[in-house]
Amino acid sequence: MASITLDNLGKVYPGGTRAVGGVNIDIEDGEFIVLVGPSGCGKSTLLRMVAGLESITEGEVRIGDRVVNNVEPADRDIAMVFQNYALYPHMSVRQNLAYGLKNRGTPKAEIERRVNEAAEILQIGPFLDRKPRALSGGQRQRVAMGRAITREPAAFLFDEPLSNLDAKLRVAMRLEIKELQKRLRTTSIYVTHDQLEAMTLADRLVVLNGGRIEQIGTPLEVYRRP
Ligand code: ADP
Ligand code: ADP
Repeated sequence: MASITLDNLGKVYPGGTRAVGGVNIDIEDGEFIVLVGPSGCGKSTLLRMVAGLESITEGEVRIGDRVVNNVEPADRDIAMVFQNYALYPHMSVRQNLAYGLKNRGTPKAEIERRVNEAAEILQIGPFLDRKPRALSGGQRQRVAMGRAITREPAAFLFDEPLSNLDAKLRVAMRLEIKELQKRLRTTSIYVTHDQLEAMTLADRLVVLNGGRIEQIGTPLEVYRRP
């Protein structure tokens, strides 16, 4: 676990579009931050800069005490959950969960421990030997989260993870993520369009507009304002 600091963070794309500017946020160890705002306000760009999937053109991202601007995504000690699951179709659920750890040379017994723990937390034990195509959308999203959990990262980054699910499943998964957060207390940044997700999950909400912070505070503070 670790704090995340965004220090005067900004992004100007080649061609000159300013996507993000002057963003300062101190995210505490274990805090769940939700990023909201209209389409095009810079949410994905901000998240992708923290993940290392987009270069940083201004300011700094620190994870713990470490400036990560020039650190490769795989070396940032973060795990990302996407809306499109990004599971490997030819691998079983178990292999999907273990793959990243295997690549890092994690010992077999440790991989097994972590896979079993994630399977227990997300209740995907019965599906461990299935391929992703034999799972429902909700089950696939659980596997995607399981893969993030097995890495035991310092932080989770969620990019609209539930936006492909139907309304009923979205509610169920929202509550599961809430439980996950209570149990693991891993520092998280979560991007969503869904106000209920934002209200339920956020310790603090960040409202972006035009690449800048328009409001920041607890859900009550943000949504109470006239
Ligand atoms: P959001 O996730 O809130 O919808 P984005 O971060 O995707 O916002 O986009 C922020 C702004 O940056 C938009 O104006 C968008 O068109 C622009 N943008 C995003 N990605 C690129 C890119 N690869 N090249 C140029 N402009 C981009
Ligand atoms: P999202 O809002 O979920 O990021 P988008 O359709 O806005 O989805 O963006 C999809 C992809 O296209 C992203 O990787 C984004 O960085 C890129 N993109 C968005 N806007 C632009 C743009 N104006 N020029 C080039 N790439 C862009």
